[in-house]
Amino acid sequence: MDRTLDLRALGEPVTGAGSTPPLLDGPVDLAHTLPPPGPFDEEGYAVLRDLVAESRVLVLTGAGMSTASGIPDYRGPDGQRRVRPMQHGEFVGSSEARQRYWARAFSGWERFAAARPNAAHAAVAGLQRAGLVEGVITQNVDGLHQRAGATDVLELHGSLGRVVCLDCGEPTTREQVHSWLTDANPGFDRLAGAGEVRPDGDVVLPEELVRTFRAPRCLVCGGDALKPDVVFFGGSVPKPVVERAFDLLERSRSLLVLGSSLRVMSGYRFVRRAARDGKPVAVVTRGETRGDGEPVVQLDCLLDQVLPRLLADVAPGADLAS
Ligand SMILES: [Zn+2]
Repeated sequence: MDRTLDLRALGEPVTGAGSTPPLLDGPVDLAHTLPPPGPFDEEGYAVLRDLVAESRVLVLTGAGMSTASGIPDYRGPDGQRRVRPMQHGEFVGSSEARQRYWARAFSGWERFAAARPNAAHAAVAGLQRAGLVEGVITQNVDGLHQRAGATDVLELHGSLGRVVCLDCGEPTTREQVHSWLTDANPGFDRLAGAGEVRPDGDVVLPEELVRTFRAPRCLVCGGDALKPDVVFFGGSVPKPVVERAFDLLERSRSLLVLGSSLRVMSGYRFVRRAARDGKPVAVVTRGETRGDGEPVVQLDCLLDQVLPRLLADVAPGADLAS
């Protein structure tokens, strides 16, 4: 792992054309791109361990779960937004925006799809198999919890593995769409090269190249409104999904937030509800979080290190493999 990455470049938000892009190509481990966490908080860990051992934990995960799998976060532990993600209004509002989205997404897909679950995903699946978890809710769209063996994962922001037609509702798999795009755009990936992969699996491409891209069309209605089944920034989480999440929280004894700075309201509202209902909240993530003061315990540490230890402590003999 390269420990010589420029910390200043990573800490700076991208402000527009001409700014230096953050160094996010390839596997990114925030442990190596930021000052390491301070001394491990053993006292805080003991509180976390006892909380999880009591079972009926609702696990809520964010982008920090997947950084050790090479999928970068929109925001670093410094809380700065690094890239400007696709906005919902922009995507539904113009064919050009969709063409740009699909050109970039096509170029990043194979690398995104190649990401593998890390030890933190495996530990969450292990806690679930040990019967300690009431539910797993994720803000991530990468499907890595499921690939690590977790079941009934509630995907708050949808999944990049699915595509849906906004006009007629026809569902398709992303794999299928990728295969159409590969046929329709021979040589495009070579021209696109190896740009910077972003959290939603796309890469940065020059506009001239984007304009040559043949975007996907719906096989049923022929329209060009195919959208990955994810909630873009500025979009909203479908109501039934929110209701299911609150139901899970209702049945749970505590809330465990993993790898989220809680700056996205769609996740933060569960912390507020848990606090309102007098349920203990634990947060394990790198860096600052919103809602400081509410959690009964907050650990600034690496998930792929602390969660396997947690699993071993609360479920001795548990199998890490799925
Ligand atoms: Zn359609």
